[in-house]
Amino acid sequence: LPQEFELARPVLQTIEAAGYEAYFVGGSVRDTILGKSIHDVDIATSAYPEEVKRLFKRTVDTGIEHGTVMILDHGTGYETTTFRSESTYTDYRRPDQVTFVRSLAEDLKRRDFTINALAMKENGEVIDLFDGLADLAAKQLRAVGDPEQRFHEDALRMMRAVRFASQLDFTIVPETLEAIADHASLLEKIAVERTQVELLKLLQGQAPKRGLAAFMTTGLWQYCPEFVGHRASLKDLSERLEAGLSSETAAWTLLTTQFSLATSQIGTFLKAWKTANQMITDVQATTTAARLLLERDLLAWEVYQCGADRLAIANEVAVILGAADREPLLATQWTELPIHSKKELAVTGRDLMQAGVQPGPQLGADLKTLEQQVVRGELPNDAPTLIAAIQ
Ligand code: ATP
Ligand code: MG
Repeated sequence: LPQEFELARPVLQTIEAAGYEAYFVGGSVRDTILGKSIHDVDIATSAYPEEVKRLFKRTVDTGIEHGTVMILDHGTGYETTTFRSESTYTDYRRPDQVTFVRSLAEDLKRRDFTINALAMKENGEVIDLFDGLADLAAKQLRAVGDPEQRFHEDALRMMRAVRFASQLDFTIVPETLEAIADHASLLEKIAVERTQVELLKLLQGQAPKRGLAAFMTTGLWQYCPEFVGHRASLKDLSERLEAGLSSETAAWTLLTTQFSLATSQIGTFLKAWKTANQMITDVQATTTAARLLLERDLLAWEVYQCGADRLAIANEVAVILGAADREPLLATQWTELPIHSKKELAVTGRDLMQAGVQPGPQLGADLKTLEQQVVRGELPNDAPTLIAAIQ
């Protein structure tokens, strides 16, 4: 058992000692069997939330209406969810009601894919009711139960399928893939924020080609905001994207650059995806730089304006889209800049006013000129020279 499970064993043992069942479930079980590192340990139990809370000193009601209580133990939080069955779905999103049940089998049945429907006992024994182990070994994603019904119940599962295909480098079995193709349009019912999470994970996964190929063939792409009209660009990406992007900013930049979006269109595009405003600012800068890198080396002023972190992202994206890798050159250009921000300029607005420049728009323009000249190496960064230059 991995260290994370060893540490959590006493939590399961406490629940079991009180006469309930408790198991490790979800991604942590899947990833442990795959030999991957795990991030969070999820627990499923037959105990009702109030019963769980009675057993532990420190708990937090993180989602008590769906049966989830976080148990705090030695500085770690364990999301512990009561076994539940999800009955009728009318809006393709959320079950109309969550029913707590005492049976593990009921709980596993409502999970999305067989590889996500495994449970593990405190002693490491695996409960595998849907042949998830066989699918793990065959590197396959298969919906639990009737795929048509499962995607009809919750359309987000279709995006999860293509996301896992990329993250795990798994194939989606034909029956499941066909059901996604048949229900792709239901993705429109899902909140963009949730679709966004899956798209970004897909683009950052280890086999994005695979995830994107499924995203394209099933038609899911057509039901994503602002993707209409970009079929050829997306198809091209699905053929060239050998490795996952290193960050969310890089993932967005890849799309905006590949879609040839102008700076103002990037705002519209990312707003449709409901990203944070900071993301829009970042992606506008990285896209501008990536586009230049596809054409030529950057000038000192362009390097300065973009900044080291954004340059790395722009270069990553430009390389994917066929540019030469300029990472070493950009790193040198950045290091060799005489200044790295306006704060490092040897004069301030106040210095210029003391030297006789009138306050007003001209002052700002003068400062900008000096900043550019220093960055380009046309003037040394020392106060007397800069003041003399302005006078
Ligand atoms: P990750 O490594 O990204 O956390 P995960 O499989 O743990 O992957 P979560 O979103 O954390 O994914 O969900 C935990 C578990 O809950 C899943 O493994 C699956 O069993 C179940 N689950 C999550 N979302 C759904 C869904 N939309 N429909 C059915 N089951 C789901
Ligand atoms: Mg998880």
